[in-house]
Amino acid sequence: NDAVRVESLYKTYDNGVTALDGVSAAFASGTFTAVMGPSGSGKSTLLQCAAGLDEPTAGRVFIGGTELTATKDTARTKFRRGRVGFVFQDYNLLPSLTVEQNVLLPLRLAGKRRKDPKAILGRLGLGDRTHELPERLSGGQRQRVAVARALVTEPAVIFADEPTGALDMRSAREVLTLLRAVVHEFGRTVVMVTHDPVAAAHADSVLFLADGRLAGSLARPTAEAVAE
Ligand code: ADP
Ligand code: ADP
Repeated sequence: NDAVRVESLYKTYDNGVTALDGVSAAFASGTFTAVMGPSGSGKSTLLQCAAGLDEPTAGRVFIGGTELTATKDTARTKFRRGRVGFVFQDYNLLPSLTVEQNVLLPLRLAGKRRKDPKAILGRLGLGDRTHELPERLSGGQRQRVAVARALVTEPAVIFADEPTGALDMRSAREVLTLLRAVVHEFGRTVVMVTHDPVAAAHADSVLFLADGRLAGSLARPTAEAVAE
């Protein structure tokens, strides 16, 4: 029961750089996986292709039972909006929208019915921030809003690209604890790109990339083991 599966993914950009050189991996439903590797090893490209934000040059991507790589642009966008959540390093909140409006935005984009975000905002410790603008929040709070936004459509999978990259250690730990809760409490699947061994140690397992290829994996990671 894989939430995400990629088969023999290749990605060569227009400038001739090969970012993915034959990557196959499966992300089981209800697991939290960290993807690590040196800068330029293809982590972001893997995430973008697996999430349907970019198209691989060759290979296949499955989310749930659907082959994204066999789906046309507009259908892929629709699928992504309904079934995939994103968390980015720089939060990507819209500055003119309140916390609640930011959280509800993916429902609007997906054409899904509006819902009351109170429960989720309360769970993420943002219950008293509902009507604030992002500029009034700390980095950790902003990232928690982004996690709430990623959850609101109840997607099968959430992709997080360096979600703690801009946070101090304490906020980072809060966000990582939340991502674990997203998996173990909400039953979602999280795939997180990070270069931080401490962040990776919050995941159930770690995949390592080097030069666009899978270079190893680690189950039940510790920060010490990941750093080696
Ligand atoms: P990582 O996330 O591990 O740092 P990336 O996936 O961002 O790696 O990049 C992998 C390789 O692809 C790098 O050599 C990078 O310079 C190149 N690359 C990434 N995005 C693009 C792009 N849009 N156009 C051209 N080359 C790119
Ligand atoms: P595109 O312009 O490529 O069709 P969208 O308009 O769907 O992309 O999304 C615009 C930006 O919002 C992208 O950076 C995308 O990664 C992000 N995004 C898309 N869907 C969601 C979502 N459900 N939650 C949070 N961010 C999203």
